[in-house]
Amino acid sequence: MEILEKIKVISKNPYQYATDLKQAADKPVVGNFCSYTPEELIYAAGGVPFRLFGTQEDIVLADAHLQSYCCSLVRGGLEDALRGRLKFLAGAVFPHTCDSIQRLSDIWRLNAGLDFHLDVVLPVKLDTESARTYMIDVLRDFKTDLETVLGVFVSDDRLWQAIRFYNRLRRVLADIYDLRAKDPDVLSAQDLFHVVRASMIMDRDAFLPMAMELKDALAEKVKPVTENTGKRILLSGGICNHPDIYGILEASGGEVVWDDLCTGTRYFEGFIDENNENDETADPVAAIARRYMSRVVCPAKHLGTTARGENLLQLVKAHDVAGVVFLFLKFCDPHGFDYPYLKKYLDDAGVPSLLMEVEAQLPSEGQLKTRFETFMDMI
Ligand code: SF4
Ligand code: SF4
Repeated sequence: MEILEKIKVISKNPYQYATDLKQAADKPVVGNFCSYTPEELIYAAGGVPFRLFGTQEDIVLADAHLQSYCCSLVRGGLEDALRGRLKFLAGAVFPHTCDSIQRLSDIWRLNAGLDFHLDVVLPVKLDTESARTYMIDVLRDFKTDLETVLGVFVSDDRLWQAIRFYNRLRRVLADIYDLRAKDPDVLSAQDLFHVVRASMIMDRDAFLPMAMELKDALAEKVKPVTENTGKRILLSGGICNHPDIYGILEASGGEVVWDDLCTGTRYFEGFIDENNENDETADPVAAIARRYMSRVVCPAKHLGTTARGENLLQLVKAHDVAGVVFLFLKFCDPHGFDYPYLKKYLDDAGVPSLLMEVEAQLPSEGQLKTRFETFMDMI
């Protein structure tokens, strides 16, 4: 599929893409590390949200600022900034989530040398009325800050337009995931990884038509009953910057059919209610806040003590999953703290699971394959 190849070229060369975009279009590229970045507001203000995935290069300069027990996403992102590899960024946005990101924000502000730096101090608890009003206030302040640094005014109409656009974007990504879960042979898991990655870095106006074309092409290929015989696996965890891992899992007899990753479904899951759009009193910022309050929660936020476990089990059932592979970056405290309870949730329901802790560089293919094959034999 020609469209898939185009998407993959961009996903594999994100910095080149962003550099070209900066030159070709008058759109500020806005770096971020987390799916709690209020992208609708950045898009409405004319910016391109650009997700940073850490680095594949050696980490040297960042070690002067961060302890070696910070996750490789944080250290790698800072390394690229200090090395001048992110000069295409106009600025960066830091939603306050885990401790590492919060400290990175302080260091980044002083050392990255970008035109602007915005913190978005979202609430941690998401299940109270006061958190909801606080969330709305924070998003309103962020909107004002963005308008100031980008020199634009974002009207409510413009914001509703951005909300509708993002709902379409999220819908098409969810549809592609659904098609692939039905028949994994239509698209390799590695290629799906590239599609989602492209959705987090590309000019969204350019990405949406490409994703729609891809979805239509996949819909024509889906068989009513899949012939894929791989053991159906769900990947759960934080960031995944390792396309190779999907191929190794496949070669070990597994097939990733769904994920619960920050750089997977948790990026696009959850829609914004458009029903009040024509109500003169309707507030688009409150609508964006509602999504954050109700979407699947990440371990750096709190929405009741069992929300993540229940969501994981529901995904396992919905996608007929045989086993779960937890994929965390080493030293990721939020995911590490949630792991024992999530594993117990799965154990109690009779769902086998495997924990893989990785860094920016993967262990050798042979080592990974041995662990995956053992797990596949077990399930
Ligand atoms: S786990 Fe939560 S805080 Fe950390 S990167 Fe993912 S969405 Fe952001
Ligand atoms: S949530 Fe984990 S992976 Fe994400 S930035 Fe924090 S420590 Fe790193």
